[in-house]
Parts: sequence; C-alpha cells; structure tokens
Amino acid sequence: MTFDYLCSECGKTFEITPDLMVCPDCSTRQRDDEPLRGILEVRLQGQADENFSVFDLLPVEREFFPPIPVGNTPLWEPSRIREKYGKPRLYIKDDTANPTGSFKDRASYLVAAFARKFGLNEIVLASTGNAGSSMSGVAAAAGLKVRLYLPATAPPAKMVQALQYGADLVKVEGTYDDAYDLSMAWCRDKGGLSRNTAHNPMTIEGKKTVALEMYQQLGRRVPDHVFIPVGDGVIISGVYKGFRDLVTLGLAPKVPVLHGVQAEGSSALTRALENRGFTPAQPSKTLADSISVDVPRGGYYALKQLMEWGGKMITVTDQAIVDAQKELSTLSGLFVEPAAAASYAGFLKEKETLPADESAVLLVTGSGLKDIETARRGVALP
Ligand SMILES: *Cc1c(COP(=O)(O)O)cnc(C)c1O
Repeated sequence: MTFDYLCSECGKTFEITPDLMVCPDCSTRQRDDEPLRGILEVRLQGQADENFSVFDLLPVEREFFPPIPVGNTPLWEPSRIREKYGKPRLYIKDDTANPTGSFKDRASYLVAAFARKFGLNEIVLASTGNAGSSMSGVAAAAGLKVRLYLPATAPPAKMVQALQYGADLVKVEGTYDDAYDLSMAWCRDKGGLSRNTAHNPMTIEGKKTVALEMYQQLGRRVPDHVFIPVGDGVIISGVYKGFRDLVTLGLAPKVPVLHGVQAEGSSALTRALENRGFTPAQPSKTLADSISVDVPRGGYYALKQLMEWGGKMITVTDQAIVDAQKELSTLSGLFVEPAAAASYAGFLKEKETLPADESAVLLVTGSGLKDIETARRGVALP
C-alpha cells in the first residue's frame, strides 16, 4: 500500500511530510471565521483483501504506534432498545471503551505514531476537552510532550484527566475557537506538531478506523445507516473516509447513509447542508460541550462528502439530548456524555424513517463520567 496527500479542494497531490498540514495553494484563500481551506486527505493506493488488518490501511507503519490499546471497541446489540422501537438490526459502536474514554483516541493514536516516525517530541493542540485528554493520555504511553489549550469552561473532569497524564495545560479565558487560534499561533512561532482537529490530516485518517472495524464486526459488510454526533465535522469525515477506502479497495459495494447529529444551538454544518454552503458563523450554545463549536474546522471537507454521498444532518434540542442520555443508560447500561447521547437523540428523532430491515449503528463517542454536572440534570438526587 502506498500513501500520499490529496487536496480535498484542488485535487493536487503531495508527499506526506510533517511540514505540510494544509494545501499550500488553497490555504492562501483562508479567511477568519470560516472552516479550514485546503484540507489534505490521505490517499491510499494498492490492494487489500477482506482479511486486512486495520494497520495495513494506515499511512504510518505499525512499529511506531504507542503501547496503548486504542480502537477495537465493542459493537453490540442493545436488545431492549431494539424491542422498544422495533429495530432488530440496531447496533451500538461503543467508543467510550477507548483508553481515555473517548473516540478521540483514534486520532491521537495515529498522530502519536506519526510524531514518533518523524522524531518529533512535542504535540500542540486546542480542544473542548476530549481531544486534549485523549492526546495527553496517548502521548504519555508514547513518551511525547503535550501542550494543550482548553477553554476555561471545559468540564473539570477532562481538565483533571489531561493534567493526570502530564500535559502542559493553558487555560484560555474564551471559547474553544479562541483556544484554537492561540494553539495555532504557538505552532507557528515556537514549533511543535499541531494535532488540531482537521488541521493535521492524521486526525481525519485516524478516525476512519471506526468504519473499518464496523465492517469487520458486521461480518465484512457495511451497515445501512450510521448516527454520528457532529461538532467540527471531523469524526463524520473520518467515517466517510473509512467507508470510501473500503469501496476504493473493492471490499464494500457502497458507503452507508451517514446521519450527522448536532445540537440545535451549534448547528453550523446542518445549516451549511441546507444552504449548500456556509453562512456567517453564529455563537454556539449547547450543554453538549464536545459538539459546541462556532466555526466547524472540518466544515468544507465534511460538507463536500455529505453532498457527494447523500448524507443527512439533523439537529436535536438540549432537552432531547439530556432525555436521550438518560434513556440510553436505563435501556442499555451505557452511560455516555451529552455529545455522545446526541447520536441516540438523533436516532429517536429519525426512527420512523428507518426501515426495520435495514441496519443502523449508533456511534457513541464519550463516557458519561467525563461530565457529571450535565448528567445530574437528567436525574433527581435523593
Ligand atoms: C469531538 C467529539 C465529537 C464531535 O466530533 P467532531 O469531529 O468535532 O465533529 C462528538 N462526541 C464526542 C464525545 C467528542 O469528543
């Protein structure tokens, strides 16, 4: 298998090196307050049979991955939910089972391997919480340093988690978008490998592994539908990339219908799909902190794939998220954070439109223990 970068806007190709993050041509058109221009996609060329190992389809050799068990998360059958809603082919892909408790480990794992391959020892990023705690944990296993910018409003558990793993933490009096700008300025002036989501192409590529696993766990078939919580739009882009790779390799006949779910108060990508383009940024407001973004960094790239592959975007209210979080816990034993519950809330909103004989996977992305304060709203304390 060989790998290079392909610009998602102009189609130019480049060799994969740590100095290159976005397309040198398209990024010159970057304006503030719009999603990233010139996102580079990893292009794979070669052959694989259906017994592939996920590592075979990644652009960094296996020997560079740190010793921490990321991915291979359970895909299971929530039978009480199946019965309640008459959906016998509903599955949960439980990414709370990752080492740091969130889906973000998939990206951190590949970024850490990439840094080790190229001999880089500091990683810099901004995060709403999970990407930061994830990168800190995976970097600890890899012996890499992390400089992390978090908005002061990040849930305390995520901050404490990153500090436990040994990150240098910069608490930003501002939004995630402010933290993002500060981290980019640091990389520009002082160096370090950016692990900012969408900016580092490995963040997208690492996230594709979840799609490859679904295929393997469903007996080498792709599901019909996948529900995915969406903030910056990088998870959904990674999931597209994984299924597209399977189609490219001739291993799958189709890309599933992806259903991106956003909070009503943070719905930039949903609006963009309705309008076939991005409208001016609006300040986000939702209790689902992990999907609260003003400008979705991976927006253009996600939008392009949604349009090309018939993807859907829907919004759910914060109340629907809190209710879905509680119902998922009581019907399945799975306690997830609000952003992760959004995929279940999206499923509940869409379920009438899903044929009972089609398979659907709910991607749950973060553990409930990461944000106890919000979960308290769904229960009455004695
Ligand atoms: C980051 C995150 C998301 C959203 O992913 P994007 O790539 O920002 O769209 C959803 N759920 C959880 C728990 C997350 O940490």
